[in-house]
Amino acid sequence: MHNTKLSKFITEDDIQKRVSEIGKLLTDQFKNSKDPLIAICVLKGSFMFYSDLTRHIDLDLSCEFLGVSSYHGASKSSGEVKMTLDLSTPIEGKNIILIEDIVDTGLTMNYLLKNLESRKPKKIVTVTLLHKPDASVIPCKIDHIGFKIENDFVVGYGLDYQGYYRNLPYIAQVQNIN
Ligand code: 5GP
Repeated sequence: MHNTKLSKFITEDDIQKRVSEIGKLLTDQFKNSKDPLIAICVLKGSFMFYSDLTRHIDLDLSCEFLGVSSYHGASKSSGEVKMTLDLSTPIEGKNIILIEDIVDTGLTMNYLLKNLESRKPKKIVTVTLLHKPDASVIPCKIDHIGFKIENDFVVGYGLDYQGYYRNLPYIAQVQNIN
């Protein structure tokens, strides 16, 4: 995108190292359970993190996708969460790994947790690549965090600005965002 200046913030190597560590933790967490395991990708932002992370979970699992939108292409949260795509299967009695790209205000994660808990899964473990603790407006349960970051707008590795930059293999800050 012209007119935007990016500065690299978390390198591809650092992301991959952390993703593999979280994959090992999740493998250990679920390896003794006999209940079915479902990894849920929260679209669109977590598609890249999800596809890397699930490759590091050394267990039988099935893949499901949820679509939510909260930013509507802008750089500040609207506070509204809208489900744009639902799961294709019931999750009752199953173990769930809910995989998010970033927890900012916490509203999306809270909305998702309430929604999924009402479907009576056995257990939900939440994972986010990035967390902005200073932006939190509502406490929310996050079991695994890739990186804690400052309250700045970031793009790359699945995260967009006005639909762009999702394909970057690293995380960057946008210097001149309005
Ligand atoms: P929350 O509901 O926690 O405020 O926001 C969650 C959603 O807002 C994320 O899934 C993501 O789509 C978007 N978001 C929050 N912070 C950022 C950011 O720094 N960059 C981008 N690209 N999206 C963000």
